[in-house]
Amino acid sequence: MKIKTRYFISFLVLISFNMIGQSHYPGQHRGKINLDDTSNVKQFNFDVQDVKLLDSRFRENMERGSQWIISLETNRLLHTFRTNAGVYSGKEGGYMTVDKLGGWESLDCELRGHSIGHILSALAILYASTDDDKYIEKSDSLVSGLAEVQKIINSNGYLSAYPENLIDRNIAGERVWAPWYTLHKLFSGLIDQYLYCNNQEALQVVEGMANWAYNKLSPLTEDQRATMIKNEFGGINDSFYTLYEITGNSKYKFLAEFFYHKDVLGPLSKGEDILNKKHANTYIPKLIGIAREYELDGEEQARTIPEFFWNTVVDHHTFITGSNSDREKFFEADQISKHLSGYTGESCNVYNMLKLTIHLNSIDPKEKYIEYYEKALFNHILGQQDPATGMISYFLPMKPGAHKVYSTPDNSFWCCVGTGFENQVKYGEFIYSHNQNGLFVNLFIPSVLNWEEKAFKLKQETQFPTKETTIFSVENAPDKALVINIRYPSWATSGAEISINGEKKIIKQVAGSYIKLERVWTKGDKIEATFPMELKIQPTPDAENVVAITYGPIVLAGKMGKENMQGSAPYSNPNLYNDYYTYDYNIPENLTNHIDLSMNQLLKNIERKDDDSLNFILKGNNIELSPIYDVHRERYVIYWNLN
Ligand SMILES: [Zn+2]
Repeated sequence: MKIKTRYFISFLVLISFNMIGQSHYPGQHRGKINLDDTSNVKQFNFDVQDVKLLDSRFRENMERGSQWIISLETNRLLHTFRTNAGVYSGKEGGYMTVDKLGGWESLDCELRGHSIGHILSALAILYASTDDDKYIEKSDSLVSGLAEVQKIINSNGYLSAYPENLIDRNIAGERVWAPWYTLHKLFSGLIDQYLYCNNQEALQVVEGMANWAYNKLSPLTEDQRATMIKNEFGGINDSFYTLYEITGNSKYKFLAEFFYHKDVLGPLSKGEDILNKKHANTYIPKLIGIAREYELDGEEQARTIPEFFWNTVVDHHTFITGSNSDREKFFEADQISKHLSGYTGESCNVYNMLKLTIHLNSIDPKEKYIEYYEKALFNHILGQQDPATGMISYFLPMKPGAHKVYSTPDNSFWCCVGTGFENQVKYGEFIYSHNQNGLFVNLFIPSVLNWEEKAFKLKQETQFPTKETTIFSVENAPDKALVINIRYPSWATSGAEISINGEKKIIKQVAGSYIKLERVWTKGDKIEATFPMELKIQPTPDAENVVAITYGPIVLAGKMGKENMQGSAPYSNPNLYNDYYTYDYNIPENLTNHIDLSMNQLLKNIERKDDDSLNFILKGNNIELSPIYDVHRERYVIYWNLN
């Protein structure tokens, strides 16, 4: 999300952000998607209910995330909506009967209501992946509460936690935070409730909202449209495309195209990297919407623009962890070493880049997409959650000696908390994908895939990345041949080993591709895949002596202790206004990221501690190096300064 500092007498700070929920990828939600979005793509996604996570840290994160969501009472989440409509349940309208949510869900925050959209999306995914009725019960109470509010507002389908006046201000070009951005989350959450949980009321409510939007926007002049979309609107075009696919109603296609942002997309279509100083998360979701357009109609530029954008971001604007941005903005291409601040790597950006990655991989599959996805998932998203409390960090600070700053349970509700609700429950989303001929294993995460259409069931067991070997067991198989493509990661530069039922296979492929295994599988077949990892020193593009250390796809960070951590650290202080953005890390003066070694010497001085953890020791300096996803509640260094 984005904070715009305003230079007005009041010195008000306006936060505008962007981001989104709702996931529909080609191949998913059959029976609910009425327009074909599969004929322009080459690879398809499984529905999340086809993939069950087995015990692992991913599953643990999901469980902590779900506990937090369930702990937020329905009345509290609906309170701003009910206040907006003047409708309360029971005695709620009485003075101080509801314990109000704080942070960005406060009654005086212009973004209020955004969290409920993310929570609806997360609940939908949780229900689909676990079949646990508690998620349906919670979802239903939220959706029916929203339906009631929409009815009472009685304004052509308008539904929000803030008055329609905020939209009018946006249209008039007046100062307002980001009302379409916020509405987008609500659209997405309701659409997900329909797609994953078959909640018909959610579809009715969201169609009502879309009809309101059509009546509101279709009479606008081109000037009004251009003015309005200058403000952050998240990925609302994505939601309208999905609603169009579900209903076939061309009004929703009109709405999706209404948010086509020519000023942004024009330069990108010419291959210009204009990202310097641009608010990253205002950009990324727009491109997801454009990729969705390609999936629907195959319009060439709707593929090339998002591809150019993705390559530009990943190749020239991305930290070693897969994160991007400094104070939420892209900076000059490749100038990584100059932007190691305490406010790098907004988590929403990674959430959106991962979504865009899946869309682009569907359109034109490339190992480069999976490589990025794995890097960002393990190094950023997995470690975004504090394992002790389930709280979420906004940034992944690159500043040497900084630490992750976590939210509070009910007094933060930053954008990254919203996307964090979703991030932590959808780890099953992209472990596998498929085409007509076979299965692709993209990620090494313990799970069971049930590919019903092919009567194929595969179990994946692994302690990756601590161990290099992953074992796949066939639990059910069709009586004809099927291809299993196992990813041969680009980081596995020292080779790979594959055996089927103990018999070693000759591997013809090279790192950065898939190993194709085709046969008539039978129940009980076992595939063992080993991809050795290596330590690497990774210089920044703009300063050879500023380096990060990786082991396979995993970024290792130096653990630098807790000295000088003060006050609420490592948590945000709920008494301070948006302190994630002004946080003083109080880094001790003697803490240094300087190592008196050359690159080669550094490599020789790192030693793995033991085989059961991924901890290393930097000899001489006696600094412990651990995966950044494992470093919590203490200071760390990701980028080192060498001689
Ligand atoms: Zn955010």
